[in-house]
Amino acid sequence: MATFDSLAGAGYNITIEALRDEEYPMLQVGSVYLDHAGTTPYAKSLMDRFARDMTTNLFGNPHSASASSQLSTSRIEDVRLRVLQFFNVDPVDFDVVFVANATAGIKLVVDAMRCLPGGFDYVYHRDSHTSLVGPREEARDSVCVDDRGVQDWLAGTSPLGADAASAATLFAYPAQSNMDGRRLPLSWAAQLGQNRAAHVNRTYTLLDAAALVCSSPLDLSCADTAPDFTVMSFYKVFGFPDLGALLVRRGAEDVFASRRYFGGGTVDMVVCLKERWHAPKSQFLHERLEDGTLPVHSIIALDAALDVHKQLFGLMRDVAAHTGFLAKRLYDGLGSLQHGNGEPVCVLYSLDPASPTAGAVGNGPVLAFNIRNSFGAWASLAEVEKLATLKQFHIRTGGVCNPGGIASALGLEPWEMRQNFSSGFRCGTDNDIMAGKPTGVIRASLGAMSTISDVDKFVGFVSEFYREECVVPQSPPAPALRPRDAPSSHLYVHDILVYPIKSCGGFQVPEGVDWEVRPEGLAWDREWCLVHQGSGQALSQKRHPQMALVRPSLDFDRGELRVTFAGSIPRHLPREVVLPLSKNPNVFQSPESFRWRSSRVCGEEILAQTYASPEINVFFTGVLGVPCALARFPAGGQGKSMRHSKAHLQKYQLPAGFRSRPVCIPGSFPDPVPPSPPDSDSEKAEQRILLSNESPILAISMASLDALNREIAKAGGRAVSAAVFRANVVIASSDPGAAPPYSEDSWRRLRVGGRHDFAMLGACRRCHMVCINQETAEKSEEPFVTLSKTRRFDGKVFFGTHMCYSAPAAAQALTRDAQCPTIRVGDAVEPGW
Ligand SMILES: *Cc1c(COP(=O)(O)O)cnc(C)c1O
Repeated sequence: MATFDSLAGAGYNITIEALRDEEYPMLQVGSVYLDHAGTTPYAKSLMDRFARDMTTNLFGNPHSASASSQLSTSRIEDVRLRVLQFFNVDPVDFDVVFVANATAGIKLVVDAMRCLPGGFDYVYHRDSHTSLVGPREEARDSVCVDDRGVQDWLAGTSPLGADAASAATLFAYPAQSNMDGRRLPLSWAAQLGQNRAAHVNRTYTLLDAAALVCSSPLDLSCADTAPDFTVMSFYKVFGFPDLGALLVRRGAEDVFASRRYFGGGTVDMVVCLKERWHAPKSQFLHERLEDGTLPVHSIIALDAALDVHKQLFGLMRDVAAHTGFLAKRLYDGLGSLQHGNGEPVCVLYSLDPASPTAGAVGNGPVLAFNIRNSFGAWASLAEVEKLATLKQFHIRTGGVCNPGGIASALGLEPWEMRQNFSSGFRCGTDNDIMAGKPTGVIRASLGAMSTISDVDKFVGFVSEFYREECVVPQSPPAPALRPRDAPSSHLYVHDILVYPIKSCGGFQVPEGVDWEVRPEGLAWDREWCLVHQGSGQALSQKRHPQMALVRPSLDFDRGELRVTFAGSIPRHLPREVVLPLSKNPNVFQSPESFRWRSSRVCGEEILAQTYASPEINVFFTGVLGVPCALARFPAGGQGKSMRHSKAHLQKYQLPAGFRSRPVCIPGSFPDPVPPSPPDSDSEKAEQRILLSNESPILAISMASLDALNREIAKAGGRAVSAAVFRANVVIASSDPGAAPPYSEDSWRRLRVGGRHDFAMLGACRRCHMVCINQETAEKSEEPFVTLSKTRRFDGKVFFGTHMCYSAPAAAQALTRDAQCPTIRVGDAVEPGW
């Protein structure tokens, strides 16, 4: 299932059986088949066709007399005409301006309108993409309207109030909402066009067709009623090339007369130095607006895309029928899923694609929805996306760049959005349920290449993971162990691991070695990271699984960190790199070997010491195939050189009285106000960490791992090793029968080695990074799939527990143990509750 944003048009997930499905007779597959490499027929035919064009012709930069240049010029003119034909319009009435994408088209219009003598007023529809919201910042005055506001306007009441007539007005709206697929009437542009005469200054209309044209024809043949400006992105329709278009009705060309900027190619003559004068090209509008060299090869690729798309999927009318049929099947499939207690699994925000509702002219093949459990609590969007990613569905979740649409679908008030923002919510973070309301939606989009089996598999996926047959209590069974009957000696430290370089392989602390425990975590844990040379972002295994093969080891005899790579190392690289462990490596290396550089770890801005040594950075860049640099984040930093723990006890871990009820149980009593969890914010604020994701120390229990592996085996999967959880401390029992799984959920303290106390900071939330085999860097579905089924609470998946060292009260502080606390493999572990 492809989304508009990434894969629409890229032909993802095509299965030939489904394309041949008798239930849908419209789609002709032609003679192209899915090959064994998994290449999709569409992508392959398109690339073959484009490659042929590029290898048999020589295309030069247009605007000169050479044969190669002339060839480019004439092909571009042909494609320009084809684009007009795609919208069924006559070149007499319209011009096509090639732009990078829909947004660039919008900016061209806005840039011209703000240069109009009185500037412009801006009216935009609530369902606008952010790209249509931004122009308000350039306008003299602006207002966001809903359907009602547009209707009133058409009836004569301007949404801008009385003094609006002093400037030109731009009205912008999407032909189809990118949030829920709702289609808005094309007739609005026509009706406002008729009203034009009544206004002193004109109202121009800007139609954002980016979402609509992916799965529907757009016929603008009636120039009198067509929007003045129409924008779209070709990559959304065809997957390739990365190109967009702005269609301008010739009757509205005058808007661009006031545009001030000009650039290479758009002028006939420019005089510099002593005089300042230029003559813009005058024959075609596009000649004046296409600044700089055209994206020649992209435009030529569009020729191929138009051909191949049509050959495989037919006319856009056929695509519309095909996607409409699939959309109805998806809508009905998700809409009919029910929990065992009769409650619906999905809340759908899109309209039924088969029955147009008042105001809208139907719904595109896009389904926006959210998922609830049988008590009515919302599933975390980030969690749904992780699982879907693992199952190879390309859905999108979150605010999907449609602020107005999201706010109205979810009933979010502006103050709530501001409050969410100030309590840490940002687009794309894991905190997506705030104050009991989702902050975004799940969006599944269908395209020409989607199939019946894609839809059925997706409905099956939601049902398998989110439908609750019998309503189960939302908390794990109470642990059998209680302080009184807990034998204190059967648990022990089985393994201690540190990960000197964030997201890379672990270093196992040898038996018999005392390992220092610091407030920030175990000594040497996550003190280094690899940052992208361009963005400064810390690299993670989630995106670069081969990082598991980077194997650091700590050599205290020599005072060195040695790093090897367990995969194949390119010939020109050394077998290992070695760096001094010393905190001030300037002693060993030249002073210019470091730069302080701003980086990002887990979305948080930090300041780290980045190594400048080419030997080091060439090694990591070479083995990982990513331009990266090593950076260090030593303890003791201030400001952005310091981070804090984010771990906290989860609701499901609290005693029953502490747990708030799930939100929105139909017919429930008002929620009792839950007492705040034991770890208050002030305590948390003191908990420093280095580059670990959330907390100083992560512990897991072998009893829980065994239980998980039994569940995986039941489902026919292969057991996973403890390494996938990247724990620092692995706790096992000398008497396995006496260790119930998941009892760590209820621990509040641990005493290790009979002397050191640790505070438990809450269960560890998991993502699909646990699916990376730490030996081979291969990805699989387990254990995340089984965890999602057995360890999901309040919509999130947990395994293992965060903890931190808890320093003794001042009276005992002067013992040697307290000055330099250590733990070692084999230490006894005594939980407290
Ligand atoms: C994708 C989209 C845009 C933005 O398109 P770009 O290609 O990113 O410029 C604008 N509006 C709608 C409705 C869209 O779906």
